[in-house]
Amino acid sequence: SIPLGYFGGIGAGSRRGILVKGGQYLDALAEVDTIVFDKTGTLTTGQFNVTSIETNGQLSTDELVQIAARVERASTHPLATAIVELAGEGTSFADVHEEPGYGLMAVDGEDRIYVGSARYMEKLGHRVQGARVGTHVHIVKNDEWLGRIELMDALKRDARETILALKRGGYRTVMLTGDRAVVAEAVGAELGLDEVTSELLPHEKVEAVERLVKDGKVAFVGDGMNDAAALARADVGLVMGGIGSDAAVGAADVVLMNDEPHDLLTAIELGRRTKQIVW
Ligand code: ADP
Ligand code: MG
Repeated sequence: SIPLGYFGGIGAGSRRGILVKGGQYLDALAEVDTIVFDKTGTLTTGQFNVTSIETNGQLSTDELVQIAARVERASTHPLATAIVELAGEGTSFADVHEEPGYGLMAVDGEDRIYVGSARYMEKLGHRVQGARVGTHVHIVKNDEWLGRIELMDALKRDARETILALKRGGYRTVMLTGDRAVVAEAVGAELGLDEVTSELLPHEKVEAVERLVKDGKVAFVGDGMNDAAALARADVGLVMGGIGSDAAVGAADVVLMNDEPHDLLTAIELGRRTKQIVW
């Protein structure tokens, strides 16, 4: 039989927008000692603004944005949303493939258009120039670098207080991200995170979680974009916002509907209280 205390815990959670998919996850929340965060959409808002645009000189910045948007209209990634919004109305390429953690490739007749990270372009054999700050989306057509779009988002309002509370509670705090090291390290320093690892592909996030699980009891908190597998591998996987991909909501053990990092603290507290009642 299922102890009654679990029903109380799950009910109390759902009233606060914290959906726990089973009593065993309340137990896991009570026992975690390591909290692993995704960056984009989890600790940061995921609402990007374009901060600069550089082209190879052949195109105007508007032409570059229009080409990028024709590819990005196929994607629900937060970077895609920002670029499409800047471009306004327009057409899409019919044949677009998403490379999770890298970006996208569009097939347009004989042409191939690549939109994504510097790492993606390097994998394809293109050398691209990095710049000062921000998250970068590069655009390459066949063998030619067309330019890059630089974007930034902001920390969520309660990210700092959440990390502070976790550190005070003795938790190990870790951030894993596919974004550039300069961006990741700035966020890590601002939040006071114990550990930051950047420029990770989705499978590398999974490997990092697998290493952490050997050392302790791990909660992974993500927004569901490119991190469904990492969510599934942690002792307890939490997805923020309930707006993530269906795959991630499916892979998550707990859904934090309000999209606020401090709900993680509430979820942990719920786990602990339930444990006191059940045991
Ligand atoms: P994070 O770990 O920060 O959530 P992702 O794994 O979703 O990041 O993406 C890592 C990087 O891959 C992004 O910073 C970006 O450079 C690139 N990327 C991923 N998806 C897209 C996309 N749809 N358009 C452009 N770039 C993308
Ligand atoms: Mg993400």
